[in-house]
Amino acid sequence: MKKRFLSLVLALSLLLVPVAMVAENKPSFEPGKYVAVAAGHNGSVEIEVEFSQDAIVAIKVLSSDETATLTNLVFERIPQQMIEKQSLAVDSVTGATVTSSALKAALADAVTQAKGDVKALSAAPAKAPSTEVVELSADMVVVGGGSAGLSAALAAEQDGLSVILLEKNAMLGGHTALSGGFTIATGARVQRELGVTDDTFQKCYDDMMKNGGDQSIPELLKLYVDNMGVSTDWTIDYVGAGLPEKLTKVGENSVDRVLIYKGAGAGLMDAYAAKVAQTTVQLLMDTRATKLLTQDNEVIGVEGKAKDGTTYQIKAKATVLATGGYGARRDLLPESLKNYVYYGASLSSGDGLAMGQEVGADTVHMGFVELFENGVEWLPGIAKSTYNGSMAAWTGSGILVDRAGKRVVNERSAGTNIVAQQAAQPDATLFLLMDQATYDIFSNKISGTGISQEMLQNWLDNNGKSSPVFANGKTIEEVAAVIGSDAAVLKETIERYNSFVEKGVDEDFGRPADYMKAKIGEGPYYLVEQKPRYATTLGGLKINTELQVINVDGEVIKGLYSAGDTAGGVRGNDSIPGADVGWAITSGYLIGKNLAKELKAE
Ligand SMILES: Cc1cc2nc3c(=O)[nH]c(=O)nc-3n(C[C@H](O)[C@H](O)[C@H](O)COP(=O)(O)OP(=O)(O)OC[C@H]3O[C@@H](n4cnc5c(N)ncnc54)[C@H](O)[C@@H]3O)c2cc1C
Repeated sequence: MKKRFLSLVLALSLLLVPVAMVAENKPSFEPGKYVAVAAGHNGSVEIEVEFSQDAIVAIKVLSSDETATLTNLVFERIPQQMIEKQSLAVDSVTGATVTSSALKAALADAVTQAKGDVKALSAAPAKAPSTEVVELSADMVVVGGGSAGLSAALAAEQDGLSVILLEKNAMLGGHTALSGGFTIATGARVQRELGVTDDTFQKCYDDMMKNGGDQSIPELLKLYVDNMGVSTDWTIDYVGAGLPEKLTKVGENSVDRVLIYKGAGAGLMDAYAAKVAQTTVQLLMDTRATKLLTQDNEVIGVEGKAKDGTTYQIKAKATVLATGGYGARRDLLPESLKNYVYYGASLSSGDGLAMGQEVGADTVHMGFVELFENGVEWLPGIAKSTYNGSMAAWTGSGILVDRAGKRVVNERSAGTNIVAQQAAQPDATLFLLMDQATYDIFSNKISGTGISQEMLQNWLDNNGKSSPVFANGKTIEEVAAVIGSDAAVLKETIERYNSFVEKGVDEDFGRPADYMKAKIGEGPYYLVEQKPRYATTLGGLKINTELQVINVDGEVIKGLYSAGDTAGGVRGNDSIPGADVGWAITSGYLIGKNLAKELKAE
């Protein structure tokens, strides 16, 4: 998902400012090429800017560790607009404001280096927000352009409905585009084609019910399981999503039912974006839905505000809330999660939930989130995942210890087991203890989750002075002192673990022998914080098996539907790997298909 941009060249010299404008307020630069760097979301963004005597001629992104899915548009749109307008005062890309600001800061630096006037180039012409009110109508209006919303829109349009979709960001995709693209697909044609014969709907239902702590709402889970195969076939055949060569088990799935779409979540959403562009679905991008329109206790559409201030009032026979989850809204989560860290995007702000509740909708399972054990808190309350590095550390001699320096868990056990041990700590934190050899494995494998080598180095240099704690020291005494641990206890822990390695048996916690091949050896030593992290919320609007939203009196709110992470109850208190994207697609698909049938029958 993350990649380095080596040459995105925008040499748009033909688009330079009109001559008259230049004559009036002519900028001046020392011609040449200048390199500038600014801090982005995942690390530095480095650009090269070429100036002529009186113009910005070209902007080239030399390198970046930003998440491509979210930031491609930034690197495309902002340089183009800066060159077109010969101005630094261009709009940020909604949904990628940190990277937008980094690019603008780097350009300002380049202008300074070229002896240009940053202040003059930053002066934005006063622009009053639009007061226009646009009224539109359609059979269906969808709020949210992730996999749930786009599945609803495409399935309905395929069967003849007119559809309008509002997306608050400048790009489609939501959390789905950031996801690994893991999707469970029991009953899908691809499962048969790849020779998987031992899966059944009942097995899938049982795995999910068990993994969700027996909390899934049975009729919703059944609806999901019964339809995930057909919706997967549709995603492949109609949407055009690319497929892997094999299916895997992954996590608590007892058989091979998890497919990974080609290009992961980003590839999946590229397929959706390409498909929707070929249809009559009207996309209102950069447009945030703000409230539902109602009449006689029925929902009759939605109101939205575009970035330029235009208000859209959209009337529809059906309104679908598919705005994703509410993980970015800590205030909606229970106190017990206060030391857990969020690794999702700010787009998961519970908008659909709030709009639904305003018209009386009930909610379910609001305290349930999907937890993983390997977060580091890089900003207050905000996580990066060390999943790739942490998993690799178990192939070396990495162990998990508490602040006292004691081992507390089989590091290779289920994530829920490790999270339970984290939850038992006062600050929900365990530490990954590594010698130099294991740290090398960890750092080599860390990429892929938005942690650059530059970030790692900064965290090491910081050596526990602030979060995230990447304590390091030449000796056990040194590293233990950083986290306030007792070096003697830590040494005892290491000796005991090493004795288990010699015997090939973990007598304390049962770590598998395959993951006990190396003893903890030479320093320097490292203690990296590991906190429970979450992105996906599992609660949300209460729905029935028609995907209609239910009010606090248990009645259907006519005209209102919900899909994906906005709709709660199906996954229970934990989500089996691949179940979230699968649910988003299946629930969206079902809404689209059901409504098309229903409305055409009227
Ligand atoms: C890093 C990461 C990895 C993951 N990996 C996996 C995985 O491999 N497999 C899996 O099953 N699950 C995974 N998940 C979870 C999964 O991505 C989500 O559960 C799923 O994609 C939700 O889909 P959705 O369509 O409901 O929401 P989203 O995909 O989040 O889409 C919601 C959309 O609504 C828009 N929106 C919000 N409010 C408004 C508004 N007011 N007006 C207009 N638009 C609005 C948002 O901008 C967004 O585009 C992962 C999540 C993360 C963060």
